Amino acid sequence: MDKLIATRNLDNLITKVEAARLRVSEHHIVKIVGISKYSTSEDIRTLYEVGQRAFGENKVQDLKEKSLALEELPIEWHFVGTLQKNKINNLIDLNPTLIHSLDSLELAIELNKKLESRNKKLSALLQINSAYEDTKSGVLPEVAIETYREILEKCPYIILKGVMSIGAHVEDENTIKKSFQTTKRIFDELVPLGARYCSMGMSSDFELAIECGSNLIRVGSTLFKN
Ligand SMILES: *Cc1c(COP(=O)(O)O)cnc(C)c1O
Repeated sequence: MDKLIATRNLDNLITKVEAARLRVSEHHIVKIVGISKYSTSEDIRTLYEVGQRAFGENKVQDLKEKSLALEELPIEWHFVGTLQKNKINNLIDLNPTLIHSLDSLELAIELNKKLESRNKKLSALLQINSAYEDTKSGVLPEVAIETYREILEKCPYIILKGVMSIGAHVEDENTIKKSFQTTKRIFDELVPLGARYCSMGMSSDFELAIECGSNLIRVGSTLFKN
């Protein structure tokens, strides 16, 4: 990807994000994480050079390789993929800024145990399966608040910072919107418990997600397209 294209992609994205957030409120700030899972380290570097600072990967091995390749840049790395138990130690070593995909109490307890043994803390979001799709990870909305409280209580080495959802994988905008609204309602209930991030919205649905209250979007293909 050349620099002109990277600039165009980022400008277009920021313009749309700006319009969507202003439809919510001038005080509504939205963070953009560039999801680089289908892109090379060089493409990430190009986007960094035109101003994008936060990137996310969905595989621990890819996060390791790309963050090593770009070690000299002060990039903020996020992890957004399904975390397998046997990869937890590797992920901890990479010091991600935020893990978006804590998808069960069991995983949280396992992560907490490994963090404790290294006397390290990491920030994470609880993933909620608001679309009720079998193919998606995450806790169901009905148990989300209870699970969040339990993680707060039982996992002192995890700094819980909010929630994450992937919008319903359907054409019908109303169905997608409902899934976002479900997550936003849960987020609002968790704000008094310290929740700060409501991570929702990808290339196909980030404007809708922002209008539903998302303050962190994860955008891949739109940002990295040629
Ligand atoms: C791939 C991915 C994204 C970005 O998807 P695009 O449609 O390419 O923007 C966002 N979130 C997660 C969890 C992903 O795996």
